[in-house]
Amino acid sequence: MNNKPFENYLNILSEAAAKLDISEKDLEQFKEPEHIFEASVTYEKDDGTKEEVKAYRVQHNSARGPYKGGIRFHPDADLDEVKSLASLMSLKCAVVDIPFGGAKGGIQVDPKKLTTTELERLSRAYIQSAAAHNLFGVDKDIPAPDVNTNPQIMSWMLDEFEAINGRKEPGMITGKPVEIGGSKGRSYATSLGGFLTLEYLKEYLLGNKQSNDITIAIQGFGNAGAEFAKIAHEQGYRVVAVSDSRGAAYCEEKCDINHLNNVKEMNGSIAIESNGLTIITNEELLTLDVDILVLAALDGAITENNADVVKAKIILELANGPVTFEADRILEEKGIVVIPDILANAGGVTVSYFEWVQNKSGDIWEEEYVNERLKRIMEKSVQNILNKTKEKNVTFRIAAFMIGIERILKATKLRGK
Ligand code: NAD
Repeated sequence: MNNKPFENYLNILSEAAAKLDISEKDLEQFKEPEHIFEASVTYEKDDGTKEEVKAYRVQHNSARGPYKGGIRFHPDADLDEVKSLASLMSLKCAVVDIPFGGAKGGIQVDPKKLTTTELERLSRAYIQSAAAHNLFGVDKDIPAPDVNTNPQIMSWMLDEFEAINGRKEPGMITGKPVEIGGSKGRSYATSLGGFLTLEYLKEYLLGNKQSNDITIAIQGFGNAGAEFAKIAHEQGYRVVAVSDSRGAAYCEEKCDINHLNNVKEMNGSIAIESNGLTIITNEELLTLDVDILVLAALDGAITENNADVVKAKIILELANGPVTFEADRILEEKGIVVIPDILANAGGVTVSYFEWVQNKSGDIWEEEYVNERLKRIMEKSVQNILNKTKEKNVTFRIAAFMIGIERILKATKLRGK
């Protein structure tokens, strides 16, 4: 586990900035967040006792629009991690050219140890604590789901926010269920965006290799990983292995994704031997000789300690920050191409933006329209990054950072700052 994600971000930032030839002064705004909110949030357990947990909201940059970014519940969520994730959000929104800045929230808690009612009280307590500092709002800072948070948690948070403010404001949070203002297509948008990215780069990276000949291993079988598996499988790709925090399942020919979902639902994990599934370790999954390794779990999955043993030709980062700066170098030397997080998983925030637009206008878009607009944005963003990569002879990650930095800087300058 990489425990210095913000340093990781700063290293990439420096490398991209050096290619852009921008001044130290111009780079300053990227190095530190505009605001950091750090608090101890107290919520009531079912037995009536009180528990205190650490909570964060980091607002990194707002030159291009209101802050935007998910909230994660995880025992390892700390300020360093949340700062890095908020910074990546600023660049990601700029890469797909949507009018948002970047932010991220985190609560240091293991949600698996909480009951549903405790999760609800914790979610509401976080919003109360943030409201005391006037953090959130439709034109201010708009949270969304991330690791271990979901549409139900977004609903409780919205409800609490609206109760405090005494008015309806559905656009203050995205990733809501459609029944209370969520967008159609949002639940799988991150994965669809990642899949489209892969499709648009397929010929460049794999020549005319047919989909049914392309093997995929996926680390992480949650929101992002499971939906990606489903889409790739439906489109004819061969998903041969998936993992979750408890272990990994391997299938010789290709996995039956419906079966995997059933196994997960029945056992709480996919790492259970059944119907053609062979159990392997999480480490083994990362070293499988596949065409594409999709990283859809947590940051720091590939570091300088295991980059050497990766055999995949391409890594697609659905997670944020899963490949460290040092690992990037090793992978590049081995000729492994990394499709970076701020492009590959930007479909989620893009459809969150569509949700926000619908909430602000009171409109409701059809699913086909949402997906069509997502396609257009992903295609354009991939093309821009591909052009930059070729023009500057840099990796996809550096090209994406360069585009993000340039767009944010332009907005800052237009503001006269
Ligand atoms: P999630 O909590 O739904 O799923 C995470 C999955 O990773 C779970 O299956 C978990 O068991 C697994 N996992 C955890 N540790 C693991 C390990 N060591 N090895 C293998 N699997 C492991 O979270 P999610 O929403 O799918 O998010 C996953 C990643 O995608 C995060 O980095 C998140 O920031 C990023 N992301 C998510 C979205 C979104 O819309 N959900 C958008 C952009 C980026």
